Amino acid sequence: QAKLDGKNRYAFYNESMKINTYTQIQDEYDLSQAIQGNEFELYYQPQFNLHTDKIIAAEALIRWNHPEKGLVFPDDFIPLAETTGKIIELGYWILESSIAYLARRKKEGKPEILLHINLSSKQLSDPNFVTLVQDLLIQYDVSAKLVGFEITETLILEDVELAKQVLQIFKEMGICIAIDDFGTGYSSLAQLKNLPVTLLKIDRSFVMDLENDIDDRKIIEAIIAMAHKLNIQVLAEGIETREQWNMLASFHCNYGQGYYVSKAITADQFNLLPQINHDNL
Ligand code: C2E
Ligand code: MG
Ligand code: MG
Ligand code: MG
Repeated sequence: QAKLDGKNRYAFYNESMKINTYTQIQDEYDLSQAIQGNEFELYYQPQFNLHTDKIIAAEALIRWNHPEKGLVFPDDFIPLAETTGKIIELGYWILESSIAYLARRKKEGKPEILLHINLSSKQLSDPNFVTLVQDLLIQYDVSAKLVGFEITETLILEDVELAKQVLQIFKEMGICIAIDDFGTGYSSLAQLKNLPVTLLKIDRSFVMDLENDIDDRKIIEAIIAMAHKLNIQVLAEGIETREQWNMLASFHCNYGQGYYVSKAITADQFNLLPQINHDNL
């Protein structure tokens, strides 16, 4: 019986591997075509000051308007883009589109907004990346002060020295540096203390059960206290309830984003939002 199971499983495993390989090649092809075909779109999720309720920044989040599959979310194609190296091309598109959006807002007389852009590790280790960012800012006549980069702690720990060097250059240019998904990796604030970080984003996993989980509450309070001692501001991601918002505000968390106030929305929708404050993030 056991033998039969093993054999069956083996056959099944083989079969699914074949299917996966096939899908992957298709997807890889699709990804390149999709960039050419303008199938990607940036959505914007507002980030709020928890004490004034005002919008202080936004995060650019990529979506794929797939001709057959409809709206595809980044978790379904960013990992593949990273393993195939396509993230360099896609990352450039994200960067240029973000900066072009800031330029368009300026042209239309909209209030200035700090825009956070997510970076992948391949981008940070790309020797052309710094020049690329500088060139785009000049080309679109956008101030570096309006740009922020979100980088996960895992990404930084891949090569701390390189990260430190590159991030220092960006900081000197006036670009904000945020640590994304903080608390999920293996870094400590001590490891991050020498990095030019201006903002810490507490991962959603600590926020989602805040009302019931006393440990999450203590962890968040400790992260906020330590970050503030190091002159780093804190943003909580994934706020879904008024109660979470209020608790975080009472912990002196500076900023927040989440479905409670707004999910990521299109540029047109974002342009209609009132009361944007540039909060010197
Ligand atoms: P992230 O940077 O941590 O982004 C936050 C994710 O949480 C976003 O998912 C956002 O829509 C979602 N989110 C925000 N508020 C809430 C909430 O209240 N509840 C829940 N359940 N979710 C919330 P999204 O857009 O699907 O992005 C997933 C991840 O994909 C991002 O995580 C980021 O790591 C990556 N990503 C997205 N856009 C880009 C990009 O332009 N470049 C790169 N390299 N990665 C990106
Ligand atoms: Mg992010
Ligand atoms: Mg995050
Ligand atoms: Mg997260």
